[in-house]
Amino acid sequence: MNMQKYLKPQVAAIQPSVIRKFFDLAAQIEGVVSLGIGEPDFSTPMTFCEAGYQSMREGKTGYSPNPGLLELRQAISDYLQRLLGLTYRPENQIVVTVGGSEAIDATCRALLCPGDEVIIPEPTFVSYTPCVELAGGVAVPVPTKAENGFKLTPEQLEAAITPKTKAVVLNYPSNPTGVVMSQDELNALAEVLRRHDVLAISDEIYAELIYDGLTHASIAKAPGMQDMTILISGVSKSLAMTGWRIGYVCAHPDILSGIYKIHQFCLSCASTTGQYVALEGLRHGQAETAKMAAEYDRRRQFITRRFAEIGLPMCRPQGAFYAFPSIAETGLSSDEFCERLLREEKVACVPGNAFGACGEGYIRCSYATSLENIARACDGIERFVKDKRRRS
Ligand code: PMP
Repeated sequence: MNMQKYLKPQVAAIQPSVIRKFFDLAAQIEGVVSLGIGEPDFSTPMTFCEAGYQSMREGKTGYSPNPGLLELRQAISDYLQRLLGLTYRPENQIVVTVGGSEAIDATCRALLCPGDEVIIPEPTFVSYTPCVELAGGVAVPVPTKAENGFKLTPEQLEAAITPKTKAVVLNYPSNPTGVVMSQDELNALAEVLRRHDVLAISDEIYAELIYDGLTHASIAKAPGMQDMTILISGVSKSLAMTGWRIGYVCAHPDILSGIYKIHQFCLSCASTTGQYVALEGLRHGQAETAKMAAEYDRRRQFITRRFAEIGLPMCRPQGAFYAFPSIAETGLSSDEFCERLLREEKVACVPGNAFGACGEGYIRCSYATSLENIARACDGIERFVKDKRRRS
C-alpha cells in the first residue's frame, strides 16, 4: 500500500541527502579510505569531557533553562566579543540550540511566510534548502563561479533580490568549498542587503578553522548589519563536539524571541551535559582548537599540493576542512567520478552536485582525517585521473 500520500507534499518532495546514499554504498565496500565525512576526526578533548562528568556527578542531569545555561550563554557572548568585537547579550540575544542544525531550522521557521524567498549561494551546505522549503519558503539558488572563488558577488546578490526576498544565507568559511570571504567583500554584500532591507542568515560554524594567517570576517560586523544578521554557530567543529549537539543562534532580541518560541516548544533545551562540556571548551579550549586547526592546516597544505601535482584545478581552500577540486577534464560527471573512484580505488569523496547543480564537475574532499588516509586517497585519485586521461 502506498502510504506516501499521508505525507505533506512539501516533505514528500524533499530529496534524501545524496551524501547519505553515497555513504551507504561506501559502507558495503571493505577497506575504503574516506574523504567524505564532514566532521572532525578528533575526539572531544578529555578536559572538556571531564567537565561533563563532573556536572553529572553533581546531579546536574535535568533540563537546563530553555535558552541554555546562563553561564554558557555568557561564555558564547565572551567568545563572540573576542572573535567579532560585537556584543550579544546573554539574556535576550543568544539561544543555545541542538547543534547548528536546529538553529538553521528554527531560524527559517521563525522568519518565513509562505512564498518568502531566501537566496542561497551554491555550492552550499545541504541543509539550508530543505529547511527553507519545510518552513514554507522558497529557496532561490544562486550559482557562484570558480572564477570568482565561489564567492557570492554584490552583482549576483542584487540580481537575485525580488520584493519577496527575506534573507540571504552566507556560510563562510564554506562547506563545501573551503572558501573564505574578506570583511571588505562582506561589507559590499551588506551594502546591497541594507538597501533592499534583506536579512543575512550567517552560518559561521567554521569561524575558527581558518588558515593562511587570515582572521574571520562576518557580515554581522558590516556597518549597520548586526541587527540585520541572524548569526548561527556552534561547537561541533571548532571543539570537536559533533555528537554532543550544541549550537547557538544570536540575533536582535525581537527576532530571537521568535526563534526561541520554536526552540522552547520543540526542543525545550539542548543536552544539559553537552552544555557543560561546551562551557568548558569555550572557556578554556582555545589551545585545543588551535592545535586541531594547525593539524587541519597541515593536511590542507598537503592536499592542495597533491591536487596541484595531479593537475586538478581548485580554488584555494582557506577555511573549514574541505577541498573542492574540479574533475571536469576527466569527462565524467561528479556522480560517475565518485562511484567509479570508489569501486576502482576504494576512495570515497562526495559528488559536487550534492551541494547544488553548479557543483557538477567537482568533488568535495574532506581533510578531517589522518594525513596517512589523505595520502592514500590522493594516490588513488591520481591513479584514477591518470587512467582516465590515458583513455581519453
Ligand atoms: N552548518 C554547516 C556549514 C555545517 O557544515 C554543519 C555540519 N556539517 C552544520 C551547520 C551543522 O552543525 P551541527 O552538527 O552543529 O548541527
